[in-house]
Order: sequence, then C-alpha cells, then structure tokens
Amino acid sequence: MTLPIYVQGAWFAGAALFIFGLKGMSSPASARKGIVIAGYGMLIAIAATFLIPGLKNLALMAVALAVGGAAAWISGQKVKMTDMPQMVAIYNGMGGGAAAAIAAIEFARGDAHSTVTTILAVLGALIGAVSFTGSCVAWAKLQGVLKKAIRLPAQNAVNVLLALNAVGLGAAMVVMAPAQPELILFFFAVSLILGLIVTLPIGGADMPVVISLFNAFTGLAVGFEGYVLGNPALIIAGIVVGAAGTLLTQLMAKAMNRPLSNILFTPLVASGGGEAISGSMKEVGAIDAAAMMRYASKVIIVPGYGMAVAHAQHKVWEMTEILEEAGVEVKFAIHPVAGRMPGHMNVLLAEAGVPYDKIFDLEEINGEFGQADVALIIGANDVVNPSARTDKASPIYGMPILNADQAQNVIVIKRGKGTGYSGVENALFYTDNCRMLYGDAQPMTGEIIQHLKTMG
Ligand code: NDP
Repeated sequence: MTLPIYVQGAWFAGAALFIFGLKGMSSPASARKGIVIAGYGMLIAIAATFLIPGLKNLALMAVALAVGGAAAWISGQKVKMTDMPQMVAIYNGMGGGAAAAIAAIEFARGDAHSTVTTILAVLGALIGAVSFTGSCVAWAKLQGVLKKAIRLPAQNAVNVLLALNAVGLGAAMVVMAPAQPELILFFFAVSLILGLIVTLPIGGADMPVVISLFNAFTGLAVGFEGYVLGNPALIIAGIVVGAAGTLLTQLMAKAMNRPLSNILFTPLVASGGGEAISGSMKEVGAIDAAAMMRYASKVIIVPGYGMAVAHAQHKVWEMTEILEEAGVEVKFAIHPVAGRMPGHMNVLLAEAGVPYDKIFDLEEINGEFGQADVALIIGANDVVNPSARTDKASPIYGMPILNADQAQNVIVIKRGKGTGYSGVENALFYTDNCRMLYGDAQPMTGEIIQHLKTMG
C-alpha cells in the first residue's frame, strides 16, 4: 500500500528529529535538549501512524499506548539515578521484544514477502528475541534479583549449539516461507532461550558492556522490522540506535581492556580473586583531610558509584568552590565505567553545576596525578585499583584505571571496608600514601566543608 504523503513526510520529520536528538546527546551540555528533541520525533512518528488510512485495531493501539506510556511515565518519575542502568536494560529488552513480536505477527499472517524481506524479518526476530531475554537477565542481575552468574557445564559449546539451531531454523523459515506455526514457535523458543543462556553466566563488572551490546542488537532488529513493515521512521531509528550501541559497546570494551568475545564467553571470577595484599588501611579525620586539601596546590577528585548512592555531588561541588576560592586547583577525573552506567558521573556532576571544563576523561587526566598533592576518591573503588595493572589473577586485570596512586597523598571517602562492584580488594587502600575517611560521602563531604570554612 502506498502511504499518503503527509504520513511519509511526518515519519521523515520524526526520523530527522531522532538524528538531531542523538547529535545533542553527544555532549552533556546539550544532552537534555537532545532527549527532548528525539522525544518529539517519536511523538510525531506515532501520531502519523494513526493517520494511515484504513488502519484497524485503533482501540487496541490506543490501549497499548496508554498502558505503555503510563508505565514509562510513572517508572521514569520514580526511578533513582543509581537504578538507571536496570531501567535502560529493561526498556532495551522491550524494544527487542517488540521487534520480535512484529516479526512473529508477520510470520503468523503468512503474507507473501520477497525472500529478502523474509530474511530480514527472520534476522530481526532472532536478534530481537535474544536481546529481549538477554536484557531481562541483565535487569535481574543489576536489580539484585539474580545474584549469581549461572554457568552451565560446556557453556560455550551450548551457546554455539543453540546459535546454530536458531540460525538453522531461521533458514528453514526462509526456504519454506510461509512457515508452519510449529516451525515458527520452535524458532522463537530457541532464540529466546539463546538470549537467556548466553547472558546468565556473564556477571560482575561486564554487565554494562552487555547492556550496550543488546542495545545495538535491539536497534538492528527494529531497523530490520522497519524494512519489513515499510516504515522509514523505524528503519532510521533502528539504524541510529544500532550504530550508537555498537560504538558504545566498542568504547566500553576498550575501557575495560577486554575484547568483546572475552567478555561474552570467558568466565569472570566475581569475587575474591587476586594476590593477597599486605599492610593495613590507615584512617584519617575530616579535619586533617580538609587541611591536606586546603594547603594543597592541586587536588584531583575521583568520583565513583558511592558518590551517586550518597547523592553527594552538590556537597562535592560546594567543597570544590571553597577550595578554588582558597587558590587550590581542582579537577575531576572520570573513568569511563565509574558508577553503574556510562556517563553516570558526568550526569551527576553536571546536575550539581560543575562546569564541563573541570571534568576530564581518563586519557586526559591520567598523566596529571603525579603532580597532584591530593587525589580525593569519593565512593570509587574498582576504577582506582592498581591491581588491574599488575595482578594477572585479578578479575579486573587489564582494565585501565585512574592513576590516583601516583598522587602525593590519597584520601578515600567510603563507608567501611566494603569492596567495589567486582568484589576484589583494592591494593591502593593499603599503600603508605593513602588515608581512609570512613563515612557516607554526603555527610563526610559536609564535615570537610565545615572545617574548610574555619580555615579561612
Ligand atoms: P565501585 O562499585 O567499584 O565502588 C564503589 C564504592 O563506593 C564501594 O567500595 C563502596 O564502599 C562505596 N560506597 C557505597 N556507598 C557509599 C556511600 N553512601 N558513601 C560513600 N561510599 C560509598 O565503584 P566505581 O565507580 O569505582 O567502579 C564502577 C564499577 O562498576 C566497575 O567495576 C564497573 O566495571 C562496574 N560497572 C560499571 C557500569 C558502568 O557502565 N559505569 C555498570 C555496571 C557495573 P563501602 O561499601 O565501604 O562504602
């Protein structure tokens, strides 16, 4: 069916807004605007769909929109910043599931499609189904519902067998098109199980990369199904998400210094791994920490997950302003996987009003720690663990880290002796130049501020 020009035009406008939106998201300064622009694009694309002449099931569509829209609105209002990765995982899974569902309807209808269209529908269904169940597992792990990495005996062989089965069944669906319902069901069952089985053994610090990979998968699946439906807005949205997800996956794998194949198929020791560490952790009080920074010429702050949990970003910025007024140079060092999602720290610091020119990526700042009088680590752990450089037995071996250990003095704000996300001890905390300031990041930074104010 040829669609009216106003529907096609509106979809084109929606797709253009997706691209402008994505462009906006490339910098923290314009990211919020980018999200809003992309949101308008989605609104236009959905509204235009209702204008297709002869559309059936309008009431069902409206109900689906109301239920989905309300659920997204409520969860979007309620979600805590620290729970955002789970939310991204589950939304991503929904996208993959929706793409697979579109394909399922097309197969069930048994309409004659060209071979190319059927191949794309099968590919979209396979990738979408894997992304759906895989993202659900990622959600369950990040939410703490699923605490252990479950690994089957001969896991990699099972993965390969399932993948070959799914591809074989998909090929049969193309050859036998229109496929029998049993074949369709079998294909979807194997694809859904594949997503589960591949993701279950992946654990710990690798989950962000997995979510990003499934994000790329969902984009591809949506793009393929967009082609099947002849919907350019879906094709463009899918390609944009697929390309962005692929790039992000590559960047994150690089940030962890692990090839993607290694992340997906090599078991990670979730806790306890690594060499024994000698020495002891040495405590410091807020007053001494304040003095060390007040009389320093250069302080580098390393924020991590704990700063997010404590919502300490506003206090951290207040402290920074006081130090700068006293003539101390203060910079922020951000590790690419600090926190629980890419860009987590950038978003929080931006929210607190920290100017972007004070925030530096790992490559930009790592050479400067040697000239810093104090590295102040606030609720970060794995991203400053020097064992990642040297200890081949450590589960985080090879992950690039921030060189906080090279600063003259290191102060670490954390609540106790708890390990980071990977579950390994941090050798930095036991070094001679490191002092621990135990407590929740927000009140502790508040105490430092009080002492700084008395120091004039
Ligand atoms: P970590 O998880 O390694 O460490 C956080 C530290 O913060 C803990 O040691 C904890 O110690 C402390 N902490 C927790 N709550 C508070 C609080 N209220 N006040 C003060 N301190 C607190 O965080 P990093 O940011 O260093 O590293 C991120 C880790 O998460 C990496 O391993 C990364 O691979 C992984 N990851 C990253 C994702 C991403 O995309 N960014 C997503 C998923 C995982 P204590 O309990 O003693 O207070």
